[in-house]
Amino acid sequence: ARKFFVGGNWKCNGTTEEVKKIVTTLNEAEVPSEDVVEVVVSPPFVFLTFVKSLLRSDFHVAAQNCWVRKGGAFTGEISAEMLVNLSIPWVIIGHSERRALLNESNEFVGDKVAYALSQGLKVIACIGETLEERESGSTMAVVAAQTKAIAGKVTNWDNVVLAYEPVWAIGTGKVATPAQAQEVHCELRKWLHENVGGDIAASTRIIYGGSVNGANCKELAAQPDVDGFLVGGASLKPEFVDIIKAAT
Ligand code: 13P
Repeated sequence: ARKFFVGGNWKCNGTTEEVKKIVTTLNEAEVPSEDVVEVVVSPPFVFLTFVKSLLRSDFHVAAQNCWVRKGGAFTGEISAEMLVNLSIPWVIIGHSERRALLNESNEFVGDKVAYALSQGLKVIACIGETLEERESGSTMAVVAAQTKAIAGKVTNWDNVVLAYEPVWAIGTGKVATPAQAQEVHCELRKWLHENVGGDIAASTRIIYGGSVNGANCKELAAQPDVDGFLVGGASLKPEFVDIIKAAT
């Protein structure tokens, strides 16, 4: 069985005071045990160690990005080695905002995944189509190409969670219907089955992201191939606790 996974991507949000408040809410929440739901929150880099120091020990932290190779003369970047040095276990790679706004290509995302895994980080790898791509019928071709670029670089799938985040659903309030999410997740699992292997297809978590909230999470979580969520806006609010409990 695949353990339900709930990630909170805080994106570029928060002050010290707001961060404290969010963490306090999480620390006081009654949620299923770590054996049932894996919870990972992803604050901006500057708050990572602060959050880690305050956060309950059954929740974990993720960086939102890291440099593509070994650190060095790369002004403004944060290396995978630094995250490992600070005992940050997870990193989000290939988020659509970085793909779109910072021109991260499939190949670049694949290289980042490879390097992060080689350093011992666990990776939340993001994929997803735009509205234009969906409307032109190329959703599966797009997400398969994105997945292929990632899968080609993965050696240990235990350390990878695949996050399907349709771009048209991110930050728009236009959540995918449970049927839309299930359809793509099922196709992705088939893709893994055919291109990577049956065991890996069966064990890899495929999580959904895009306008998930406390009200729509239960129906999405009930889909057989939806193994959790990557939550943006709602991860900054108390309703994130309801999302953590979506599968129970
Ligand atoms: P929203 O939940 O704000 O739509 O963002 C989703 C997302 O991009 C998570 O990585």
